[in-house]
Amino acid sequence: MADEPGITGAAAVLRTARRVLAFTGAGISVASGIPPFRGEDGLWTRFDPSSLALDTFLDDPAAAWRFLNEIFYLPLAGAAPNPAHRALASLERAGRLAAVATQNVDGLHRAAGSRRVHELHGTLRRLRCLACEAVSALADSGLGELPPTCRLCGGILRPEIVFFDEGLAEPARSDAFAAAAGCDAILVVGTSGEVLPAGLLPWTAAEQGATVIEINTVPSAYTEPLTDLFLQGSATALLPRLAAALDLAPPPAE
Ligand SMILES: [Zn+2]
Repeated sequence: MADEPGITGAAAVLRTARRVLAFTGAGISVASGIPPFRGEDGLWTRFDPSSLALDTFLDDPAAAWRFLNEIFYLPLAGAAPNPAHRALASLERAGRLAAVATQNVDGLHRAAGSRRVHELHGTLRRLRCLACEAVSALADSGLGELPPTCRLCGGILRPEIVFFDEGLAEPARSDAFAAAAGCDAILVVGTSGEVLPAGLLPWTAAEQGATVIEINTVPSAYTEPLTDLFLQGSATALLPRLAAALDLAPPPAE
């Protein structure tokens, strides 16, 4: 757990900053039951990353969808935003946070009430037709049959996530990097900083002189070279305390 001076120092930065960007990774969603890719219990201890390549998906969409369902959609079905997601939403409502840039594909920032969310790796909650490009909400299509098919043309749907052999989602990438270049503080939460190019975002912010506040359970690729204020602990414990230190009303309960 971070000491209170860490919280107090971070709150002081957020109070005086003109534009603050949050940059989040898998660590913020672990408490919501979304398994991370990396680390001891990460998905990559059980699966090969190539199973999340577009080529693999196109080779056998039905098999790929069964895999996606197991690792992503089943955990997502029972997942709700946690106090860390809600704390970021309350910071935005209070005018203390300009936007959230996230590497997560779970949609939990929006579910928590965050309005400006740049989803660098796309989202599981939208599906796109491989044939006609029509985009539909997961809630409308459903995953009753795999692979799910397009209501308009019958084509196979893909999740609107970024597969490993694809570039970052647009306009999320350009919006997020513009926000990083224009912020004077960046709040890095629950990310190792090892996934590129998304992980470059805090570097862009720091190059422009932004103060880097980091909340992670263990030091990351940012801690030594980049971070100004390191708050060690879980996002669900620390972000609500940070919001409270800014005298924000507690976020609504689930
Ligand atoms: Zn279609």
